[in-house]
Amino acid sequence: MNTDLYIYNSLSRQKEKFTPLHEGFIGMYVCGPTVYNDVHLGNCRTFMSFDMIYRYLRYLGYKIRYVRNITDVGHLLDDGEDRMSKGARIDNLEPMEVAQKYTNGFHHMMKVFNTLPPSIEPRATGHILEQIEMVQDIIDHGYGYVRNGSVYFDTLKFAQKTGEYGKLSGRVIEELIAESRDNLKNQDEKNHPSDFAIWMKASDEHLMKWNSPWSVGFPGWHLECSAMSTKYLGREFDIHGGGNDLKFPHHENEIAQNMGACGCQPARYWMHTNMLLLNGKKMSKSDGNTISPEELFTGNSVHVTKGYSPMVVRFFMLQSHYRSPNDLTDEALQAAEKGYKRLFEAIKNLGSLTSPTTAPTPLDSRCDEVIVTAFEDMNDDFNTPKALSRLFELVTIINSLKEGQVPVSDISQEGLERIKSAFRTIIFDIFGLLDEADTDSGPVDGLMNLIIDLRHQARNNKDWSTSDKIRDSLNELNIQIKDGKEGTSWGYK
Ligand code: AMP
Ligand code: ZN
Repeated sequence: MNTDLYIYNSLSRQKEKFTPLHEGFIGMYVCGPTVYNDVHLGNCRTFMSFDMIYRYLRYLGYKIRYVRNITDVGHLLDDGEDRMSKGARIDNLEPMEVAQKYTNGFHHMMKVFNTLPPSIEPRATGHILEQIEMVQDIIDHGYGYVRNGSVYFDTLKFAQKTGEYGKLSGRVIEELIAESRDNLKNQDEKNHPSDFAIWMKASDEHLMKWNSPWSVGFPGWHLECSAMSTKYLGREFDIHGGGNDLKFPHHENEIAQNMGACGCQPARYWMHTNMLLLNGKKMSKSDGNTISPEELFTGNSVHVTKGYSPMVVRFFMLQSHYRSPNDLTDEALQAAEKGYKRLFEAIKNLGSLTSPTTAPTPLDSRCDEVIVTAFEDMNDDFNTPKALSRLFELVTIINSLKEGQVPVSDISQEGLERIKSAFRTIIFDIFGLLDEADTDSGPVDGLMNLIIDLRHQARNNKDWSTSDKIRDSLNELNIQIKDGKEGTSWGYK
């Protein structure tokens, strides 16, 4: 078995054999959410992918410090206003109330999807001093300049001296000049259009601001990750991750800041997840091509015919490789639901199988080979869709043993135990899937089906008062029923 782990490094654009900087220990930093509105499914895809990666690295025996930040300052809108401040102004709240509210919502959703909490979850606003120190280091090394109380990173000087700017995103400096999508107001203060603010002087009406040697102001968005990864993982660490959309400018600028401050590339392996699409198109709130996790669970959306449970969604995410785009469609979710149920049905069947055979058999070897291959798939840049397909090879074998098409004596008891152990490890520990039938929803599901049946009967009998009573009472319990092509489904609101 090939036990070496290969990781695709966005920086070198190839798979590389993974070697940690310190034996047995991995430092991993993942860019976390900007907490100014509800977490969307695209974010969830990225965090579920890194959860699977974290779980697999743990399975391999590494001790990991997994740092995932909370962006609660500095992420500006096109008009230059801070996202948190805007939310606070609209709802008449403290900016920190906005940040807390959406952080709570984010944590809740991460729990619903059964993701493990990171080892450290630092907030940008809790690390203003570290960010100020980093700005000073960048100035001291000659890569930062001060204009009217703001500090800018000198990208041109950095590119010319180090040849490093644009390496991650594959851009050359001329392109950067043309393409710079800088959304800062003070373009005229900069030496060069691709220069970016590392400290910004705040206007009087700006809500979140701090004292600094240059002005009362706030840090640039990219700075927090450079400062916090250095603080908790050191100047050089193993893995840095985030969604593809963060490669430029966020990660490119992070690299520039770290190198500008201390002269070294922060992360050995840069990992990027691909985007989650909805019906083949980019998810976008403005054109209605979007669905929230809650809408997906309840089925309360034009994009789905019914609700899908959190574990079906997690299973759906695992069916595509983290570096491939993943297209969320109703058909794909239906297929995922079928797959998820088939897998968990097989786990149940496996539990009830026992064999009288004690000596190794040819079927044992076949199953062992499949298991080995599943782990090899995971070692090949965390190939979950391939590993899942191996599990389904085993599902077919389990089902034929259960149904008697293959005599159970064809496999040894030890062979069965090895499949059980592999299933436990891969499905529960690494993929982070839960058996939803195991939770409280078991009897609830049965009862809900009964209530839905009674409502159908009432409607068929034109007994509107009973059917309305059922609907209203469920409403009061925050339960919603939805009639679709595939029948009636239910979910929590
Ligand atoms: P944000 O809160 O927008 O800063 O994003 C948090 C994380 O989610 C980042 O790593 C983004 O790259 C990632 N992300 C945003 N949109 C999507 C999407 N549609 N699919 C996958 N990941 C996304
Ligand atoms: Zn970041």
